[in-house]
Order: sequence, then structure tokens, then C-alpha cells
Amino acid sequence: MKRLRAQEQHILSLVDADAAALHVTPPRVRFVTASTGPCYEALFNRIELDRATLALPEPLLRIVVAHEVGHATQRKTMLLDFAWTVLSVTALLSIPCIVFATSSDEELWRVSVPGLGFVVAFFACGKFWRARGAKRAAAFELDADAKAASLCGPASALAALEAMAARGHIDAARLDAMRARIASTDKNGLRQ
Ligand SMILES: [Zn+2]
Repeated sequence: MKRLRAQEQHILSLVDADAAALHVTPPRVRFVTASTGPCYEALFNRIELDRATLALPEPLLRIVVAHEVGHATQRKTMLLDFAWTVLSVTALLSIPCIVFATSSDEELWRVSVPGLGFVVAFFACGKFWRARGAKRAAAFELDADAKAASLCGPASALAALEAMAARGHIDAARLDAMRARIASTDKNGLRQ
């Protein structure tokens, strides 16, 4: 128990150091028992770390923490994205509500046909939003990886990504991006 407390303190000091280096307010840290993998919650500016992550070797743990603090630098954009999505959905949903509310009973059959068209359009938009959301999320991951690499070095960042990939928390695009980063720094190093 004492060891666990000391480890949690250690994590908090890592978070503070990374946040200072990235010029961002240190996020709070929540230690969870579920094995969902580490994550960042923009709404609460909070990092969640599971026990399996805490058990990682120190160099890997440092990268994971740096990556999660990297997400904290994206907080404003994440929250704006969220607000924008909520606003768009609300605006879109209000269109048929207004049409139905302002139509007289005799006109209702005439609004139900375009209404049906609206439902189809709404689902099409939903599909577009989901695709856009997934794209944004992938960009946030790559950016957080880049920040972790800037704090701990790309080689150790890649090692951490490979370890996390083995646990199924990382997709191949992030590994490829980090390998490309290492290749480009190697090339620049040779040129100098
Ligand atoms: Zn992430």
C-alpha cells in the first residue's frame, strides 16, 4: 500500500514536470483499477491511469505520462470540438421541430415528406460527424505522441508505443508516425 502511494506521488511529480515543460496547467490524475488503458478527459482536465500502466517499467511509464499530459495541451481544441458538435446537432434537430410546430394541422402531411428526407439527411450527417470525430481523435493522438517524443526522445517514445500496442491500446498509424519521426531525425542528424 505504501509502495503504491509512493508510486502515485511519483506519477504526480512526473505530471507536474511535463506540464511545466509543455506550459500547460497540470491535469489531475485519477488512478483506476479497470484495465481500460490510460486516457485523458478534457472536460475535467484529468488523466486516468490504470494499475497495469502503473506496473510498466519506468521509461515506458514516463512516455505514457508525457503523452497524456500532451493531451492536456489540446484541451481547448477538444472542448471547442465538443461544443461545436453539440451546437450543430441541436441546430439541426431544431429545424424539423420548428417546421412541425409552425405548421397547421392541414399542412402536416406536406411537412412529413420533407421531414422524412430530413431524417435521412440527419443520419448522413451523423455518419460524416463520426468520421470527422475519428479523424480528429487520430490527429490528437499523433500530436500527443509528438509531444511525448519532444519530452522523452522519439526512440523511447517508439519503445513505449510498441509496448502499448502489445496490450492492444495503440493503432498502427501511431507506430508508423513515430517510426517516420525517428527516420527523419536520423536523416537530419546525418546531414549535420
Ligand atoms: Zn492519447
